[in-house]
Amino acid sequence: MITSLIDYLNQSVTAYHAVLKAETILKSNGFIQLDEKDAWDLKPNLKYYVIRSQSALAAWQMGTGNAPGVRLVGAHTDSPGLHLKPKAQYSKSGYIQLGVEVYGGPLLTSWTDRDLSLAGRVILKQNGRLKVVPFKSERVLLRVPQLAIHLNREVNEKGLKLNKQTHMPPILALESSDGSTVDTGLIEGLIADELNIGRDEIASWQLECYDTQSANLSGLNDEFVVSGRIDNLTMCHASIQALTSRAFSAPQTAMVALFDNEEIGSSTENGAASAFIRDIITRVVESDDSHHPTQRALANSACISADGAHAIHPNYVEFHDPQHAVKMNRGPVIKVNANHRYATSAFTSAIFEQLCKDVDVPVQHYAHKTDLPCGSTIGPITATGLGIPVVDVGNAMLSMHSIRETAGVKDHEMMIKVLERFFTKTDLVSVS
Ligand code: ZN
Repeated sequence: MITSLIDYLNQSVTAYHAVLKAETILKSNGFIQLDEKDAWDLKPNLKYYVIRSQSALAAWQMGTGNAPGVRLVGAHTDSPGLHLKPKAQYSKSGYIQLGVEVYGGPLLTSWTDRDLSLAGRVILKQNGRLKVVPFKSERVLLRVPQLAIHLNREVNEKGLKLNKQTHMPPILALESSDGSTVDTGLIEGLIADELNIGRDEIASWQLECYDTQSANLSGLNDEFVVSGRIDNLTMCHASIQALTSRAFSAPQTAMVALFDNEEIGSSTENGAASAFIRDIITRVVESDDSHHPTQRALANSACISADGAHAIHPNYVEFHDPQHAVKMNRGPVIKVNANHRYATSAFTSAIFEQLCKDVDVPVQHYAHKTDLPCGSTIGPITATGLGIPVVDVGNAMLSMHSIRETAGVKDHEMMIKVLERFFTKTDLVSVS
């Protein structure tokens, strides 16, 4: 299972690639692609998926037809990082650099001195139509070099302070020493070379930087997985695995929603605040019009929102609530916040705890340190949009939003077991 996760992390360098790779897994497990523009003819127990705008995906196995409602697991495909501006290329001090915008809230210092490359999507003009294709260069192309300590003597005492506009543009190349004019279309040239097309076929592009270093196991006992985008591709992978790992038939529809743009507030056409998942649920439950109106189905639905949780950091224990210090490889974490930055309630917490108990998996509880502002996730947005009970959970991780994050290997397998149980348990509120 961990090999499959590492492969997923390595291939999913952008949200577009995360959806493409999820699609490959779904297709190989018999899921049928649907287009939102078409009429659908859904059949009980069959498996389907929909992709919206290349970077969000809903996949589900239809219920057997005798129970309304959906068991939904939500996660997000995007990660913080550096995105290229449209007119990115410029020359400065003999270097060719790329202007970038900061997407979401990355730990900027972690993006310095890394072997970076470019990936994203390209819009092509082909036969009078626009066509979207994924793009990923395998070459090491870019670097954001730190200033030498000899020129920044107090950096270790005062910390590395980075201005997003002036300090983050990566270097792409050197200008030629003979003073010849720089090709102003270097990015289009690179895209054309990599895709083996003409520059005039490129209508537009949307590219971001990614770290070329592969995901790895680490630690004396291989107890850690280290990679970029652990937040939140581990939960994308876990939810897709739970939906596909074994053949099951359940009375309620089992569904996974992978949203884009969580890191910037989810208010996009395929973010959690959009109508995407409500649209899909409506079409699914109303495909059986005998007794499943959407409102009744929603009243019988529940959601697990799966995202990263902060493991206690041994060098910074003062930033954690001592009663809620969660640890890696000790099981899934239920996240609670009185101000509903997490959607968990006592009721949904009890349901999730019982799911863990059902499959003999330990469970942990996280609450943020009270004098620090708490992050949020898709849980509260999904609860608001659908009006269904949601529990916010995740696996413990270090260095959240670093270019290279750390999580526990065993936690991943445990989370998949619990999500499988969620999809298949007949009566969600029954306890033992
Ligand atoms: Zn996240």
